[in-house]
Amino acid sequence: MSKSPLAAVRGMNDIFPAESARWQRLEHAFREVLRLYGCGEIRLPIVEHSALFARAIGDVTDIVQKEMYTFADRNGDSLTLRPEGTAGVVRALIEHSALRGQTPRLYYIGPMFRHERPQRGRYRQFHQLGVEFFGVAGAGADAEIIALSARLLAAAGVSARLQLNSLGTPASRAEYRALLLDFLRPKASALCGDCQERLERNPLRVLDCKVESCQELAASAPRLLDHLDAESAEHFSLLQDLLRGLGIEYEINPRLVRGLDYYHRTVFEWVAEGLGSQGTVLAGGRYDGLVAQLGGPETPAIGFATGMERLLALTESENKAPAGVELFVGALDETALASAMQKAETLRAQGLTVITGGPAPFKALLKQAQRSAAHYQVVVGADNLQGAEVLLKEQEGTGLWRGPWERIGEGLRSLGVDLPLAGPHTTRQSF
Ligand code: ATP
Ligand code: MG
Repeated sequence: MSKSPLAAVRGMNDIFPAESARWQRLEHAFREVLRLYGCGEIRLPIVEHSALFARAIGDVTDIVQKEMYTFADRNGDSLTLRPEGTAGVVRALIEHSALRGQTPRLYYIGPMFRHERPQRGRYRQFHQLGVEFFGVAGAGADAEIIALSARLLAAAGVSARLQLNSLGTPASRAEYRALLLDFLRPKASALCGDCQERLERNPLRVLDCKVESCQELAASAPRLLDHLDAESAEHFSLLQDLLRGLGIEYEINPRLVRGLDYYHRTVFEWVAEGLGSQGTVLAGGRYDGLVAQLGGPETPAIGFATGMERLLALTESENKAPAGVELFVGALDETALASAMQKAETLRAQGLTVITGGPAPFKALLKQAQRSAAHYQVVVGADNLQGAEVLLKEQEGTGLWRGPWERIGEGLRSLGVDLPLAGPHTTRQSF
């Protein structure tokens, strides 16, 4: 790959119209689903104080230890390009006192930044849709947000398997952590380098390490699920009842621990085939302690995030051309150009995609029309303004209309082009 200082940063992608059209369709489908669950969009800064992520995500996580884009701004403040969305959402809710007596359901869509090794489905700038429910402690919220995630994946046309686990409470997890360390310490030499290094800091991560020798060890390790506190166990069992009632299939993966520190009780992942170790397309969990940990009121919460690139990589990769240009109007001379531009505005007000070209000689206009890939083309000159008929032609077909320039709209209609708006002005909307 090019190392030119003027090339894009490694792991950060450009998205051109043929592809961005797919993004837009997916986002549109997602927003429709989100509406059905009462979720509103929150738009947040992409940069936050570094301390927020260290506090929220946890000092010992991979993200904070090795993946963040952190820099000093001109005032010397340490800032970080957001590696995930939850910390910012919680920060905003606390800052705007938006949690008192309220139970917001929020979503965000946008870029995240992590310094990882780029590969298919793993980039340094990638995009997530994230959803967070606040102020809801019961297993019902877990089931509802999982149902929402299932509906999003269905809307995206992605099939994936749901994996579930419970991490208990910080207290029950601490007890389990000690047990796990007792089990792992004597076998530490069998672990991969990464796991040896993080064994004391974050032994739970060994459980979901992808290296085979670690997986073998993890298979015989004590199970967190066998050491849950009574309330967490009850919560987990109710969640499973609710999911069965909803007809949502799941499998319990006792080694699912998730990379972030802030999870409590329920964690879940949807895993698809076909992306190798980038198979997790959507992941989340309950984080009842985070809001208070960041200085807000005690607020239970649950959320998830899904990677847009991974979803798009899994759905059929046929890049449908963007809607495209319907009409090219070429002008042979300056007088015709003025008329062409006015007519183009009228047609746009009726909902048609039009581009104009000229003044230029006939042949040059035909070339421009071709390059524009417009469905139809018409060329006008001064004599057409005086009554000579114009020729409206389909570029890749045989459609043809001959008639007076002022009646070009009728010509388009006669060729089957839909002019949905009454015109002549686009209706003013209020935003
Ligand atoms: P992974 O185990 O694949 O590194 P993660 O646990 O770091 O994922 P989360 O932080 O939970 O991922 O993010 C949720 C979702 O965001 C992932 O399931 C994935 O779809 C997407 N995602 C995470 N990191 C990347 C990345 N670097 N590039 C593209 N998508 C990503
Ligand atoms: Mg990761």
